[in-house]
Amino acid sequence: MHTKYVFVTGGVASSLGKGIIAASLAKLLQARGLRVTIQKFDPYINVDPGTLNPYEHGECYVTDDGAETDLDLGHYERFLGVHLSQANNVTTGRIYWTVITKEREGAFLGKTVQIVPHITDEIKRRMLLLGKSGKYDVIVTEVGGTVGDMESQPFLEAIRQLQWEMPDEDLLSIHLTLVPYLKAAKELKTKPTQHSVQMLQQAGVHPDIIVCRTEKDLSPELRRKVALFCNVKPGHVIQSIDAPSIYQVPLNMEDEKLDQLVLEHFGWNDLPVPDLTKLKAFLNKLYNPKSEINIALVGKYVELQDAYKSILESFVHAGAANECKVNVHYVHSEFLDEKNLKEKIGNMDGILVAPGFGERGLEGKVLAIRYARENKVPFFGICLGMQMAVVEFARDVIGIKDACSAEVVPNAENPVIDLMEEQKSTTIKGGTMRLGAYDCKLEKDSLAYRIYGTDMISERHRHRYEFNNAYLEKFEAAGMKATGKNPETGLVEIVELPTHPFFIGVQFHPELKSTPENPQPIFVNFVKAAMEYKTERKAGE
Ligand code: GLN
Repeated sequence: MHTKYVFVTGGVASSLGKGIIAASLAKLLQARGLRVTIQKFDPYINVDPGTLNPYEHGECYVTDDGAETDLDLGHYERFLGVHLSQANNVTTGRIYWTVITKEREGAFLGKTVQIVPHITDEIKRRMLLLGKSGKYDVIVTEVGGTVGDMESQPFLEAIRQLQWEMPDEDLLSIHLTLVPYLKAAKELKTKPTQHSVQMLQQAGVHPDIIVCRTEKDLSPELRRKVALFCNVKPGHVIQSIDAPSIYQVPLNMEDEKLDQLVLEHFGWNDLPVPDLTKLKAFLNKLYNPKSEINIALVGKYVELQDAYKSILESFVHAGAANECKVNVHYVHSEFLDEKNLKEKIGNMDGILVAPGFGERGLEGKVLAIRYARENKVPFFGICLGMQMAVVEFARDVIGIKDACSAEVVPNAENPVIDLMEEQKSTTIKGGTMRLGAYDCKLEKDSLAYRIYGTDMISERHRHRYEFNNAYLEKFEAAGMKATGKNPETGLVEIVELPTHPFFIGVQFHPELKSTPENPQPIFVNFVKAAMEYKTERKAGE
């Protein structure tokens, strides 16, 4: 089998779920025994999304190899259960960077360097790169942005050239559009889809399959109309109807025969049907919860759903594992104060303090942590959330009143959270944090060890500051234990309060490795602790 390529483009509107469709197709092909990977090409000029504010582009997803990537890579990993790398996310910035560096090295001496062919050649090289490794049967490539955007054009031109260069049966193009329902007319409208496909065809790219996002079922007549006007085969227009969970989409795509159409196009007709047993078992639990809990997610980017995408998904996985519906309530840390604290988080069964950067909303986080510690509410702090748990403990328990993070006060008297040594000489912002997977050794007698059931774990990171080990003795004497450390450097990865029923802060980002089929153990146990806390609280009322 030689590698086949699927390209997924989108039109009409953004946020139609192109990443979910790409991941669902990849999942179906993988479930038939194929070796599949997905990559995303983003048309923006940032070299990676690492320097983007979450308000701009949602969460920055980090891979094992330390790549700061688009949040769609999180969906890919969650759907496929594979670990992706830097090669799976390419931006316009990265493409230009490579071409300009080559130009400076003299690689194009004498030539005018142009979008076509130099930029498009580099795009094509990267589009085919993973396929060249021989490790995959199918490469699914999602092109970010919407057809018609000026910045998408070089990517479409690259796909056009590949369509021209490669045998038909080696490359397939899927276009995702929206078929809106007009309430007043009581009608589904296909015109935006027709225009979107026209625009794609103007760029020279011909779609083989059109996937229509819709709120209502598309009739056979309507599908035929789209097929006719968009010049695809009848039967190659399929619907993606709004689903109760994103994890339902692979099953919906299977019903629509998306994977079959793709395999027929590739001439692969004798593959087994997809084995989706595990996904179905997960959905069954997800749809039939036996209990319900409320979790406060205390953070400062709460206005935007996508900012904490992986945390929300981890709760979906951990909830299903416990057959429990987890309602996540956003609590804006900037607006938390002594007066409204009880009203805002007093009814919660667990408190999660989110990762983040900068000073805004930090004191609200400290207050929420104090509340969780004093009232024995299950607490889970991630990255900045862990760092603030350290600050809170220093101030309120150890009595270091001016304890703080050097991120807020660079020359602080008592920086219990301090800048990592290797960061002190770093001035460049992009790609310079402590990034990616690092080992962490767990103390045997700890909550973390009971959760993971092993003493050596590996989790992903994205930070510049760390627990200041000069204070470690004081913390341990006062009751906050460092139960997980990096074995090489001694960097504190986990803090706990053994006298509290469930209080854990982690320097790493456990949410990045949770999948429906392998829910992250801290999330699973946090949900369990919150369920127990709720039961006890109800019994005490
Ligand atoms: N701003 C903190 C640091 O850089 C925490 C980062 C995070 O929460 N991801 O160390």
